[in-house]
Amino acid sequence: MSEELDEFDELDCAQHGKAHTTYVCEHLIAEPVQKWHCDYPDANNPWPDAWCAVCDAHYQAAGEWNESNENLVPIKLLCHSCYEDARSASLGRMNGALLTKWNDFLDTCYEDLQKKNAQLNQEFDLGSHKRYDWDQASGELVFSNNGVAAVIAKIDFIGSYSSKTDTWLWAWANFHLLVNVRTSVQAVRDFGELHDYPCLTTPKWAAEKVNAWEMAAVAASVLNARGVYQSPFEGGASFLLIREISSA
Ligand SMILES: [Zn+2]
Ligand SMILES: [Zn+2]
Repeated sequence: MSEELDEFDELDCAQHGKAHTTYVCEHLIAEPVQKWHCDYPDANNPWPDAWCAVCDAHYQAAGEWNESNENLVPIKLLCHSCYEDARSASLGRMNGALLTKWNDFLDTCYEDLQKKNAQLNQEFDLGSHKRYDWDQASGELVFSNNGVAAVIAKIDFIGSYSSKTDTWLWAWANFHLLVNVRTSVQAVRDFGELHDYPCLTTPKWAAEKVNAWEMAAVAASVLNARGVYQSPFEGGASFLLIREISSA
């Protein structure tokens, strides 16, 4: 647990035990499968207060929470794991024409990424090098042989897949990463807002590995990248966006 979170109150969840306290309107708790209105998380506030469309109408009418509209919104406490589970379940709100459009978009991005990655491998033979190292501070991914750099790529972090929790976490919500490698991908989130694609605007959600590749493909498309590199770690993998690449 990081120090920044000490200000969070704790509660005992019947399901998850000792957990951080979050605040959510009771409508979202009763029916999480709807649009969640809340700020994006930041390092000091990973689980921002959230409310439904009905409660948001009260908020928009006043332009802020104040004494007159606060008591119109029934806020309940929720453990942070229950919050994340409910938020993840909210992705189920995509249906009908929106879901069809989303799936078509995913297919296009996925095909494009396969072509881009095939092109990169053809041009730079990425699998032939003895090792690779990435560095957040420099934002570089370096392929090398016996200590001699062969190929250097400029990277951004897209997100990571955890095989322990079967979840996808967007880099913009992963505050363990340096700011310089997790900022570009916010453009993908903006794109998600524009088209109302909740997979792109929800920080963390239940996913399979293929979903991680899909999000990587969307990021490569929106950010017009050269390709994506998967860097596995114990219990998952990071997905790195290759912005530029050249022989050393
Ligand atoms: Zn509500
Ligand atoms: Zn819980």
